[in-house]
Amino acid sequence: MKLKPTKIICVGLNYHEHAKEMGMAIPKEPVLFMKPLTALIYDGDSIVYPKQTQDLHYEAELAIVIKDHCRNVAKTDAKKHIQGYTCANDVTARDLQKLDGQWTRAKGFDTFCPVGPKIVSDIDPTKLEIKCYLNGELKQSSNTLDMIFDVYEIVEFVSSIMTLEKDDLILTGTPSGIGSMQAGDEVVVEVGRVGRLRNRIRK
Ligand code: MG
Repeated sequence: MKLKPTKIICVGLNYHEHAKEMGMAIPKEPVLFMKPLTALIYDGDSIVYPKQTQDLHYEAELAIVIKDHCRNVAKTDAKKHIQGYTCANDVTARDLQKLDGQWTRAKGFDTFCPVGPKIVSDIDPTKLEIKCYLNGELKQSSNTLDMIFDVYEIVEFVSSIMTLEKDDLILTGTPSGIGSMQAGDEVVVEVGRVGRLRNRIRK
């Protein structure tokens, strides 16, 4: 799998349980941020542990892959503009996220956006199990049913702000259970029938 997105958009705080664990109020509109394209890696690639952080976290997420050029898409039409779904890991330097007050550095390092292993289209994205395993141990376990904004609402919201292009990625937020990873660890994001995205952390 290789994608040629023009941007990577991410939704913060999109699961009820995760908003609770972060001590944050339920947002009234999706909270967006972006990752640089240089963060993109795929299944089997290594996540590099940057020297600037002491607290590297995994965030298992469902990613939307956009099908074609679109703008101002109604949620009822969103399906037509979605190529499919894949697994993503919104890798985050949690200490830098707290320090900076915004998220560009904490979420923007090279290798901080693993996606894959494939794009799946014939699924209902509103009822998918989502899990994260660290060295085989279950760390996150939820369902996209717990999302505050579903994938169609997210496409409507994002496309009301910016034009979306083929292969653009939208990461839809992580459920509760976030935690740290160390160099040498293997992290797996598993989303329903979408598959398992496996990456190892290295210094
Ligand atoms: Mg996230």
